[in-house]
Amino acid sequence: MGVCPSATMSLLTDNFTGALHPWARPEVLTCTPWGAPIIWDGTFDPDVAKQEATQQNLTIGLTVFAVGRYLEKYLERFLLTAEQHFMAGQRVVYYVFTERPGAVPRVALGPGRRLRVERVVRERRWQDVSMARMRTLHAALGGRLGREAHFVFCMDVDQHFSGTFGPEALAESVAQLHSWHYHWPRWLLPFERDAHSAAVMARGEGDFYYHAAVFGGSVAALRDLTAHCARGLAWDRARGLEARWHDESHLNKFFWLHKPAKVLSPEFCWSPDLGPRAEIRRPRLLWAPKEYRLLRD
Ligand code: UDP
Ligand code: MN
Repeated sequence: MGVCPSATMSLLTDNFTGALHPWARPEVLTCTPWGAPIIWDGTFDPDVAKQEATQQNLTIGLTVFAVGRYLEKYLERFLLTAEQHFMAGQRVVYYVFTERPGAVPRVALGPGRRLRVERVVRERRWQDVSMARMRTLHAALGGRLGREAHFVFCMDVDQHFSGTFGPEALAESVAQLHSWHYHWPRWLLPFERDAHSAAVMARGEGDFYYHAAVFGGSVAALRDLTAHCARGLAWDRARGLEARWHDESHLNKFFWLHKPAKVLSPEFCWSPDLGPRAEIRRPRLLWAPKEYRLLRD
């Protein structure tokens, strides 16, 4: 790692004219302390990423869970907008996990794109549906999904695509900056603080707060990530514990211990409730409004 140059002004401006470089975003952090790029709109050339991906003849997986009422409420729009915006022109395989395969909407897919439906048991509590994803994904990555995809993104279903989400987002491991928290001081971030939990982060630990609604990477990296999180969740459960933000707490612990190779700016998964902000140029995914009373028992 250590690929992105530190954001010094000399790199952001033209030596002769002093004009701002066209790919500069001087108002935001574009590189992590360990040298991974934080990609913001305008800091990458989408055509270059597209060409590279096409040359490598990649298959990209996209997993999504739609259990209980989340299926009728969100899945169709998620898939329809993914057809428009997610990895356009690449080979894509969707994996939909649900307890009701027959209820999955039939969405017309573009060339080179396939959809597979995998049956899961419906957990009673919504927290358990969310947490069970890690174990299920781990098994899927060890099976057909792992054999047919090179890179995989794992996403929540309660959101839809609103802009290009292309190969610029691919890397060995990819984490998403949480749109609520990206500008918060580190000590305020909602990491798990219970020392008995496998997800615990001490004060002063944690680079960023990542959102579990989007993470990705190579099959091997995601096998490690999902194994780590599933193990931590089982460890906590055996002790009668549940981390503050469930699987997301364990995901944050994993990315603290194993730094992501690429970080996506909050533009990649934006909450419209936050209103417009100067640094959010073109949101790629938009959260649906939280309607928990309708969706959760
Ligand atoms: N989920 C589901 N059915 C449920 C609860 C969760 O399908 O009853 C899946 C769905 O993909 C959802 C994800 O788990 O997007 C995470 O849950 P949720 O979005 O409710 O969590 P939040 O984003 O509010 O933390
Ligand atoms: Mn969600």
